[in-house]
Parts: sequence; C-alpha cells; structure tokens
Amino acid sequence: MERRKAVRLAAGGEAFVMESLSPQDTWELGKRLGKEAEPGCVICLDGDLGAGKTVFTQGFAAGLGIREPVNSPTFTILKEYEDGRLPLYHFDVYRIGDISEMDEIGYEDCFYGDGVCLVEWPSRIEKLLPKHYVSVSIEQAPEKGFDYRKITVEER
Ligand code: ADP
Ligand code: MG
Repeated sequence: MERRKAVRLAAGGEAFVMESLSPQDTWELGKRLGKEAEPGCVICLDGDLGAGKTVFTQGFAAGLGIREPVNSPTFTILKEYEDGRLPLYHFDVYRIGDISEMDEIGYEDCFYGDGVCLVEWPSRIEKLLPKHYVSVSIEQAPEKGFDYRKITVEER
C-alpha cells in the first residue's frame, strides 16, 4: 500500500537533530510534531529502555489534543486514544512474542488508516513497517549528563 506523506517536518522534510536537556524538552518536541501530524502517519520511536519514547508520546498526544493520560502500553502492545484531533494508536511491541500477534491486533487498520501511529521498539516488527514512516531516534550520551538526549527526526 502506498503511503501519503508521513508527516510535515519542521525542517521541510529534511532530517533534523535536536538536543534535549530535560524530559520537558522531549515532551515539547513530541507536542510540536503532534500538532503537525497528518492522518495516516506512522512514527517509529527508537531508543533504549528509559530513553524517553513514552515521554515523547505523552507530548505528542498533548499536541493532538488528547486529554486521557498516556502510559506505556507494554503489557497490551496497543493502546488507542480517540479523544484528540486524530485517533492515536500507541504501540509498544517490546514484549511481542511472534509478529502474528500484530495481525490479531489488527495493526493494518492502524498503519493504513486515518489516525496516527507511534511505535515503540519498531525493530521488533521491522517486516511489518510501512514503506514510508518517520523515524524518531532518542540517544543517551552519559558523558553529557543524566538528562541529555540527542533526538534525530528523519523520514524513511
Ligand atoms: P522509554 O519509553 O524510552 O522506555 P520513558 O519515556 O518511559 O522511556 O522514560 C524516560 C525516563 O527518562 C523518564 O523517567 C524521564 O523523566 C527521564 N528523562 C530524563 N531526561 C530526559 C530527557 N531529556 N528526555 C526524556 N526523558 C528524560
Ligand atoms: Mg516506553
């Protein structure tokens, strides 16, 4: 299936890097992208445990106008939020056993629907990712301090 343009990025479709110095910075980036997100976009969130993928997601949800609290759906794989500007499908596939579980969840309706998908641990379901998506990669750099994160946003 062909994707629409995934998301309008601030730098006109170019990749950009930002340095986050606090959870608030990461949340604000999420919020900004949530405000800009277009129907059908899929955003993959890479980063180690504790990098800030869920913090980003919480900001993103706020940007979509979602008021419901957003937590990590680690034990449910998918959580849906319907009370924003667009439906948000938040996947955390960290604990997925077999990718057939994604079919059971009905992931295709999410990935190729008119909502927005955020996927934590996308490398676990590499084969199922759409042809075009936005990659948000959050990296820690211990030498730069406990709260430092380098965040790279790029279209794939
Ligand atoms: P993940 O979903 O990637 O496993 P979480 O978002 O659940 O990670 O947790 C990130 C943790 O790191 C939170 O406790 C948050 O307060 C902390 N943190 C510290 N600095 C930052 C930062 N710059 N950006 C995001 N989170 C940060
Ligand atoms: Mg998480």
